[in-house]
Amino acid sequence: MQNLKTLQNRKYDFVIVGSGAGGATLGKELALRDKDVLILEKGKYEKSFGSLRDIARFYDVRRASETRRITQEGVKVYRAFTAGGTTVVSCGNGIRSLEKELCEFGINLEEEFTEAESEMNITLLGEDFLSDASRKAKWAAETLGYQMNPMSKFIDFNKCKKCGKCIAGCPHHAKWSATNFLDQALSHGATISYKTVVQRVLIKQGQAMGVVAVGPQGEKRIFADTVILAAGGLATPLILVCSGIKEAGTNLFLDLYVNTFGEAREINQLQEPIMAMVNDEFLPTKGFIISPFINRWEIGRYAEQGKAGLLLNNKNLMGFMTKIADSAVGRILPDGKISKPITLRDRKRLREGSSLAKEIMIKAGVKNGSLIDSTIQGAHPGGTAAIGKVVDNNLQTRVDNLFVCDASVLPVASGLPPILTITALAKRMAKKLAS
Ligand SMILES: Cc1cc2nc3c(=O)[nH]c(=O)nc-3n(C[C@H](O)[C@H](O)[C@H](O)COP(=O)(O)OP(=O)(O)OC[C@H]3O[C@@H](n4cnc5c(N)ncnc54)[C@H](O)[C@@H]3O)c2cc1C
Repeated sequence: MQNLKTLQNRKYDFVIVGSGAGGATLGKELALRDKDVLILEKGKYEKSFGSLRDIARFYDVRRASETRRITQEGVKVYRAFTAGGTTVVSCGNGIRSLEKELCEFGINLEEEFTEAESEMNITLLGEDFLSDASRKAKWAAETLGYQMNPMSKFIDFNKCKKCGKCIAGCPHHAKWSATNFLDQALSHGATISYKTVVQRVLIKQGQAMGVVAVGPQGEKRIFADTVILAAGGLATPLILVCSGIKEAGTNLFLDLYVNTFGEAREINQLQEPIMAMVNDEFLPTKGFIISPFINRWEIGRYAEQGKAGLLLNNKNLMGFMTKIADSAVGRILPDGKISKPITLRDRKRLREGSSLAKEIMIKAGVKNGSLIDSTIQGAHPGGTAAIGKVVDNNLQTRVDNLFVCDASVLPVASGLPPILTITALAKRMAKKLAS
């Protein structure tokens, strides 16, 4: 951990803003190639995970006025501010996405996907990791003629205790997160400065020179040959706009989702990694996936469903998430507010997914009258500095030596977990920049 005063006295090869899926991967890959790397991260390096207190500490939940995390249309958007970024609170799902769409921009990630899958130790979840409720749901889906496949996970199943707390950070350190890559970056000589918020990029004659950042010691200017923004799909466009790249911030998607909960006797779904299975057979035609998901904290269910959620009994609970590839019609306003209209197509996709979930849940024994849907939420903000719109296929902006490498560059919503794709994009960028 460095303080800003020290950092501003020298010039780096690369300054990377944010240490999540994109930033930590780049930091590691560039440091491994002997580059002089500085990572600036808004959050802290956390050590304790798995409880509600932890969630309150590093989730973007208590800072509504600062970050406007609820859209103008009332959709809650989730992300984390911590070393490792939002990967720390992921469900551990590692799936390739957008391969065809990226190929259309001349980006072939085959080699990088293979590398990342091996480093993140991605494997299919074994049946012995399913809760009784998910076994019943699998049987019900298959009896009805639907698929229910095991999810690909970056979880070390030798360490996983099936506590179902993945989204509060893994208390057993079984799940990969970008902090694994950050640690490697550090051991290969990278410098990391936490509690440091980047506000804008310093640009002179069309060339990036460094960034302006605010840390505990106040505002400082930090200089580098190359600046890479990886602050996530909501923060990166704000930094770009503050730096004069006004075209950033539109084309926002969130991979919108709803959770459907219902009760059956003694069907407890708590004891398994969250989203242990997936049905993605309707993604190409109807734009949704469904996957077992329960919010194990009553307060979380209260936030989603009001009193009805609060009254649900964990012991008797079954839940499914419907996640859709939503329309990229949102935008981040210059003051940080988010506007994300929910289109008729999005509503239809959510409705069709939750109907399928309900059909499976009823077959599995859930009482019809107990079924409730959550409010609409989003956890994969992206598209706000999209390839072909704000960055080129090397992820460079129109400013020389200013790049973006996070969910912002994804051209469209996939409706699938994006971490693996962002990681592969960061690996490709590091190879190009270091060559
Ligand atoms: C509950 C939940 C579960 C999820 N589960 C999965 C899953 O299982 N699989 C999957 O693929 N995806 C999952 N996702 C989505 C995934 O975590 C994100 O899409 C992904 O981490 C985005 O990567 P990123 O690099 O764009 O941003 P992030 O990982 O969010 O990293 C951005 C970083 O930048 C920092 N930052 C922000 N602003 C600034 C600033 N101004 N200055 C300095 N630093 C800044 C942040 O603190 C953060 O560390 C999940 C998301 C949530 C909320």
